[in-house]
Amino acid sequence: MDKNIIAQLKMTTGKDGVLTTPEDLAVYGYDGTFEDHRPDIVVLPRTTEQVSLAARERIPVVTRGMGSGLAAASVPFQGGIALTMTRMNRILEIDEVNATAHVEAGVVTADLQTAVEKLGLFYPPDPSSIRHSTIGGNIACNAGGPRCLKYGVTGDYILGLTVRRSSPARKGPWA
Ligand SMILES: Cc1cc2nc3c(=O)[nH]c(=O)nc-3n(C[C@H](O)[C@H](O)[C@H](O)COP(=O)(O)OP(=O)(O)OC[C@H]3O[C@@H](n4cnc5c(N)ncnc54)[C@H](O)[C@@H]3O)c2cc1C
Repeated sequence: MDKNIIAQLKMTTGKDGVLTTPEDLAVYGYDGTFEDHRPDIVVLPRTTEQVSLAARERIPVVTRGMGSGLAAASVPFQGGIALTMTRMNRILEIDEVNATAHVEAGVVTADLQTAVEKLGLFYPPDPSSIRHSTIGGNIACNAGGPRCLKYGVTGDYILGLTVRRSSPARKGPWA
């Protein structure tokens, strides 16, 4: 990958937010399936603004939570950027009165459950990968487990999302 792009990404996310060694690329090149393809670079943003900057370089971007998916959807088959959300792992707010939580996409599912349970609340979606999957990945896959037979899947618990484009806006009446 172009050295200038790597330098720009490091300026945006900090040096520890960009991984390029062969070992790192191997680790971020697979998920829970047998599929495997290395990215050219791994970027670990800390904010949604950094997500946008990583996505504007006109190179393939594949977003990744913890890579536990069973559909190879986080495998970067075209190379490019493995945009990994695990450093965006803050629970920003739990509103006990309204029983809502505001979290970043990389929060581990079990961590959210533990946090709300300490307050006497309940977040039902329970994929078996609860300790090695993120809320962002759960949303993309509409994940659920046995409790969802009674209480519904992840999609039933989403009130709003902050979404950034991973490619430049299209021109045309549909844009
Ligand atoms: C042992 C095991 C047990 C499992 N059990 C279950 C189960 O009981 N129920 C179930 O539903 N699933 C299960 N799964 C599948 C998987 O764990 C879930 O689909 C989980 O929700 C994926 O989360 P992740 O963070 O690992 O996402 P990843 O695998 O990293 O990504 C999955 C998809 O989400 C997208 N994505 C991730 N984060 C974001 C983001 N922030 N913004 C946009 N897109 C994003 C990726 O691009 C990809 O398309 C299991 C998997 C394993 C390995």
